Amino acid sequence: MIHSVKKEDLLIGISACLIGEKVRFDASNKPSNFCIHELGQHVTYKAYCPEVAIGLPIPRPTIRQIKHDDVIRVSRPDGSGDVTDALKAYGQKIAKVTGELSGYVFCAKSPSCGMERVKVYSPEGHALPSHGVGAFTKEIMEANPLLPCEENGRLNDALIRENFVARVYAYKHWQNLEKSGLTKHKLTTFHSQYKYTVMSHDLIAYKALGQLLARADLPLEEMAQQYILGLMNALKKIATRKKHANTLAHIQGYFSKHLQPNERQELCAQINAYREGLVPLMAPLTLINHYLLQYPKDYLTNQSYLAPYPDALRLRYAY
Ligand code: SF4
Repeated sequence: MIHSVKKEDLLIGISACLIGEKVRFDASNKPSNFCIHELGQHVTYKAYCPEVAIGLPIPRPTIRQIKHDDVIRVSRPDGSGDVTDALKAYGQKIAKVTGELSGYVFCAKSPSCGMERVKVYSPEGHALPSHGVGAFTKEIMEANPLLPCEENGRLNDALIRENFVARVYAYKHWQNLEKSGLTKHKLTTFHSQYKYTVMSHDLIAYKALGQLLARADLPLEEMAQQYILGLMNALKKIATRKKHANTLAHIQGYFSKHLQPNERQELCAQINAYREGLVPLMAPLTLINHYLLQYPKDYLTNQSYLAPYPDALRLRYAY
C-alpha cells in the first residue's frame, strides 16, 4: 500500500523553529502543532535554521528584505550586516542534499525561510507592495521543482494541509519507483494507480498525462521526467468538493454493477450528501471501502485515491 511508508524512510525538511528549536532572533521558537504532533508521527524531520547555520548568534538583531533599486537584499533594517550571499550559498549547499527529501515545511514570513509573500521594505523603512521569497528557500525550491513545499501558516487550512500531505506521499511513492529502476510498465502502472487522485485535482491533466505515456517518440527517461513534473503540478491544484464528488461518481460507476440496488442507492445518497456539504469526504469513502471488501476489484483497491496517506492523519474528516 502507498501509505505503508516507514516513518524513518519518509524524510521532510523543515525550518528548525517549527519543531521547537529555540533558534529565532529572540531565542524563541514557533512550534507547529500539526507538524510536531500529527505529521511528526509519520515522518522524520531534517531541520535547518539557515540564519544560525551561516553564523548568526542567538539572540540576534532582526533582519529583513530590503529592495535597493531592483535588487532585494537581506540585512538589518539600517542596511548593515548584509547576509544575502551567505544565505544564498547555504541554500545552494543544502539544495544539493535535498534529493532524499519528500517534502519541506518552511516558516512563513521569514526573510530567510518564507515561501511566498515575505515583506519587502524600502531602504527608508517603508513596507513595499511587492513580496519576496526567503533567500534560503528560493534556492531550495528552484533546485527542486518537484519537491512538495508548504508554509506552517497555510497548513492550518484543511484543504491546503490535505493537499500538501497527499503530494508528499505521492512524491515518496515516485521516489521509491525510481529507486527500484523505472520501466515503461512500471510507469504505466503508476499512472493507472493515480487515475482517481489526478482526476480529483485536474481532469485535463489526467488525460494529458495519459497521452504523454502513449507517445512512442520519447525515451523512457525523458518521458518519466515530463510525467512526474506534470503530475506534481496537477496535484498542486486543490481537490475541491465538486471535483471529489465527480471522482466518487466515476468510482461508483466502475463497480456499481456488482452492487445490490439498495447498496447503489446508499452510495449515491452518500455522494450527493457529500456534494451538498452535509457529510465529510470520509463518509462516501468509508462506504466505498466497505463495498470493496465485499466485491473486491484490484484496480480500485490499488488506487492511491482510496488510501493516499495514513488514515490516522484524519485529513478527510475536515471537509
Ligand atoms: S524562520 Fe528559518 S531562519 Fe528563522 S529561526 Fe526559523 S529556521 Fe531559523
